[in-house]
Amino acid sequence: MDLQLKDKVVIITGGAKGIGEAISKTLAKEGVTVVIAGRNKADNDKAVNEIKSGGGKAFGVEVELSVVENCKKTVDETIKQFGRIDGLVNNAGVNDSIGLEKGDPERFLRSLQKNLVHYYCMAHYALPELKKYKGAIVNIGSKVSVTGQGNTSGYAASKGGINALTREWAVELLPYSVRVNTVLPAEVWTPLYEHWINSLPNPKEKLDSIVSKIPLERRFTTSEEIADTTVFLLSPRSSHTTGQILYVDGGYVHLDRAIS
Ligand code: NAP
Repeated sequence: MDLQLKDKVVIITGGAKGIGEAISKTLAKEGVTVVIAGRNKADNDKAVNEIKSGGGKAFGVEVELSVVENCKKTVDETIKQFGRIDGLVNNAGVNDSIGLEKGDPERFLRSLQKNLVHYYCMAHYALPELKKYKGAIVNIGSKVSVTGQGNTSGYAASKGGINALTREWAVELLPYSVRVNTVLPAEVWTPLYEHWINSLPNPKEKLDSIVSKIPLERRFTTSEEIADTTVFLLSPRSSHTTGQILYVDGGYVHLDRAIS
């Protein structure tokens, strides 16, 4: 299937590592110019160089996205370099364990800035371009938005907000044919996941227990599997899909826990 993405310009927040990196590389293989917005220059450069050495087109913008002006800077820089924006992948985030009991209001607010506010700011600043080209937004969500996890109020509230904004923006942007969807992962092996599991008392035991509960093939979802669905949703081949939350999770959230 030709995804009709050639020569389009897409911004991927957190596009240098983990799920974002897989999305950047998959898009580049489809002929998309990818703009990687991430806070670590070395990581951005590495991903950009890998894409370029494979014949793709990529550009890095070094930004800490929890600062509002940096979202505008990312959009402005993309327009300056490439003259258009066809798609936005809101992906950067961190499960930062700001709980209710073990937390405080200031840290909760900062968690929203790290996980939710920049999704809004990026969409807000990119919208004039997306309107011109009937572009698409894909948000990366999390199972935590619907299952809870405990001791992570900021992240859970952010991911719940992302689900709500997906429907809200899908409605608001109907007149412009700008589509908005969310891809919702559960368990994907990435640098963020590795960091989280290693912060627990018995990482190996915990890992085995999690894998045993993933219904389809008792394995983690790969970043590439998240990327493939994301890329399809960005493409004109999903031209009548909007306001959807797609669970790319091996059945983790919805299938019966009693299955053997
Ligand atoms: P990751 O491995 O940590 O990669 C995220 C990338 O985004 C990193 O390069 C990170 O930079 C960057 N980043 C994060 N916050 C940023 C900020 N405020 N400003 C600029 N750059 C920032 O994470 P991942 O596991 O791929 O997660 C990507 C998305 O998937 C997140 O929204 C996460 O909530 C969601 N998700 C992941 C899983 C999973 O199992 N992995 C499950 C559900 C949902 P640093 O390296 O400097 O932190």
